[in-house]
Amino acid sequence: MVDLKKEVYDVTIMGSGPAGLTAALYTARADLEPVLFEGPQPGGQLTITTDVENYPGFPEGVMGPELMDRMRAQATRFGMENHISLIEDVDTSQRPFNITLDDGTEFKSHTLIVASGARARLLGIDGEDELMGHGVSTCATCDGYFFRDDELVIVGGGDSAMEEATFLTKFASKVTVIHRRDELRASAIMAQRAFDDPKVEFLWDSEVVEILGSKEGGVTGVRVINNNTGEIKPMDCQGVFIAIGHIPNTSIFQGKLEMNDEGYITTKADSSHTSVDGIFAVGDVQDFEYRQAITAAGSGCKGAIDAERYLERLHTESK
Ligand code: NAP
Repeated sequence: MVDLKKEVYDVTIMGSGPAGLTAALYTARADLEPVLFEGPQPGGQLTITTDVENYPGFPEGVMGPELMDRMRAQATRFGMENHISLIEDVDTSQRPFNITLDDGTEFKSHTLIVASGARARLLGIDGEDELMGHGVSTCATCDGYFFRDDELVIVGGGDSAMEEATFLTKFASKVTVIHRRDELRASAIMAQRAFDDPKVEFLWDSEVVEILGSKEGGVTGVRVINNNTGEIKPMDCQGVFIAIGHIPNTSIFQGKLEMNDEGYITTKADSSHTSVDGIFAVGDVQDFEYRQAITAAGSGCKGAIDAERYLERLHTESK
């Protein structure tokens, strides 16, 4: 059983990426003694990237795992209690909420800040896991800068793939979009922008079946199947960006919190309030648009302030 310090918490935080740890920092500094459950990937998506050069305050850049260790240390300094455990169930019909962990431990909390993030959908092909962060990336904004004058492949046919392809031409000498059909899913305007870019080429009806290279030398190419003919051909490139969508980590809230069709938690106008009073959603679990460490951290701050105000109201009303 997890050794919890309290039976009833004011603030419980689910997730330990920039959103969750910022929410913890702010609620800890407000003397709310938050408890945070790190989830299956302690530190979140940044722990699978290498250099982070776009987080303000680090002029020389910072390694993703180090940035997360620093955020954790900062929140701990102000009294965050954290556990490497998973929240398995939240009973929203009770007040305070009843929360169950994966080992069966149960406790209560007046508020819950959901910061469980999203994960990039992956292809599940050879070379993908091994070369992630070594030439394979799921975030052009984060990693594009490292591919100056390189030839890149981007997989996907949606708005993300179009946006990332256009963005990557700032650095790359050529970007080939590989799409499994002969028609894009992307909106017309985003598609047109990519079509108009002389550095972007399209390979239709095709799928990447293997990524070639090594951790030491990075990506050297891909093997691509033509879905019409079944022919597999090698193709040289120095980087592969996978942009086939994200999957928000919201399965335990199905039927409990309002979500959009893709499973992102819906929040009320420019706040972190969800459809259940006392539950707040921050970071990538509710944001399919920006998905940056800094926007997630900002969102975590908003969640903490929203939770603090909610608790003030709750405790005033119960007096
Ligand atoms: P998406 O719209 O779901 O598109 C995913 C693309 O990846 C599709 O073209 C899909 O192919 C392809 N795909 C999925 N699984 C695949 C696989 N296993 N192998 C090969 N290809 C695969 O995802 P998204 O582009 O990330 O966009 C998500 C949402 O964010 C959308 O609502 C989008 O409009 C929005 N968004 C907006 C902006 C913006 O407005 N600036 C920017 C980015 C994203 P099929 O087409 O064949 O299914």
